[in-house]
Amino acid sequence: KLSKRLERVAKHIPKNSVLADIGSDHAYLPCYAILSGLASRAIAGEVAEGPYQSAHQQVQQTGLEHVIEVRKGDGLDVISPNESTCITIAGMGGSLISNILERGKEKLHGVKRLILQPNVGASNIRTWLIENGWELINEEILEEDEKIYEILIAEKGNPLRPYQKNRDSGIFLGPFLKEERNGTFRKKWSLEKAHWQKILKQLEEKGQSQDIDGKRAELVKKIQMVEEAIEE
Ligand code: SAM
Repeated sequence: KLSKRLERVAKHIPKNSVLADIGSDHAYLPCYAILSGLASRAIAGEVAEGPYQSAHQQVQQTGLEHVIEVRKGDGLDVISPNESTCITIAGMGGSLISNILERGKEKLHGVKRLILQPNVGASNIRTWLIENGWELINEEILEEDEKIYEILIAEKGNPLRPYQKNRDSGIFLGPFLKEERNGTFRKKWSLEKAHWQKILKQLEEKGQSQDIDGKRAELVKKIQMVEEAIEE
């Protein structure tokens, strides 16, 4: 059975996609996408030997070798331009996901949709999308096993469209998530805020220097963005 996290990622795969799941590990997501009729073909990419082997095994056990190809390699190196129509990258940090996209940019030709699930640092991805002509079209936030995850869905378009209200806080918190402000969103950012307030207090006890003042200003700004978003 698929985790709630991957199930929610899968929900955004358009029907009849040719899916490339990068950093696939056990290949649960491409197997599920094929079995549920979302993808017609899939590629599972993995850079590490162990996860690559387990992806192979899973695809074989599920009897899907004829529709899922497991390929070993770094990021988007495993695909060709115009090969896949939908790319999923899930379960990694946002900066690693952005690096993978940046390094493999030329492979994104023909890709209609990106579904990205960072464990942390989603703002790195939002910035990358803006700089590369991808428009965020939806976002999700969910909690599973006491961890909170975000999912970002993007298509080619006008990358600034979602950020017309307040770009900084949109990039930081997620324009769709901020608008929806559901319980999980509030929980995530109240926890972050409490954490920053603790650091702020520690910094205050340290006295003053240019470095400390800079850090303090940054924390104050983040706290303000969160307060505006969850407490208005
Ligand atoms: N995508 C699966 C999920 O969400 O459950 C697996 C997540 S797992 C925590 C991250 C996987 O990404 C690991 O198997 C790791 O080997 C792989 N990975 C990390 N960097 C990668 C890269 N540059 N290219 C391909 N795979 C990578």
